[in-house]
Amino acid sequence: MYDENNIFAKILRKEIPCNIVYEDDTSLFFYDINPLFKIHVLGIPKIACKDYSDFIEKSDSSLRSQFFENIKIVINKLDISKSGYRLVSNSGTDGGQEVPHFHVHILGGEKISAIK
Ligand code: 5GP
Repeated sequence: MYDENNIFAKILRKEIPCNIVYEDDTSLFFYDINPLFKIHVLGIPKIACKDYSDFIEKSDSSLRSQFFENIKIVINKLDISKSGYRLVSNSGTDGGQEVPHFHVHILGGEKISAIK
């Protein structure tokens, strides 16, 4: 069940402000309020979906492709295409997800250590 009161749902409804990097009809990209790296941007689709699996179930191929193409647009805007970056999406309890609206973390601007 999707929680309509999660913080990203409130951001999508413009009830809470955010620092936007890029937005179109399908998705919103904004800076993380508590950045873990020099560049830490979050990307969310504009449909009610709680995690990656839910996003795949509820989206059509057009929305899916637009969302992932938008990630590339944001990577270019952030100018981290050459230096490198990490894409992360946490899902559920074992994945360490805190906000139950599907999101992708775009991390970069510095060297990030390897996942063990
Ligand atoms: P998760 O652990 O769910 O993958 O990541 C949630 C992320 O959302 C965290 O990195 C956290 O700092 C960020 N976050 C939580 N609340 C807010 C908020 O109100 N505004 C913004 N911009 N980021 C938030």
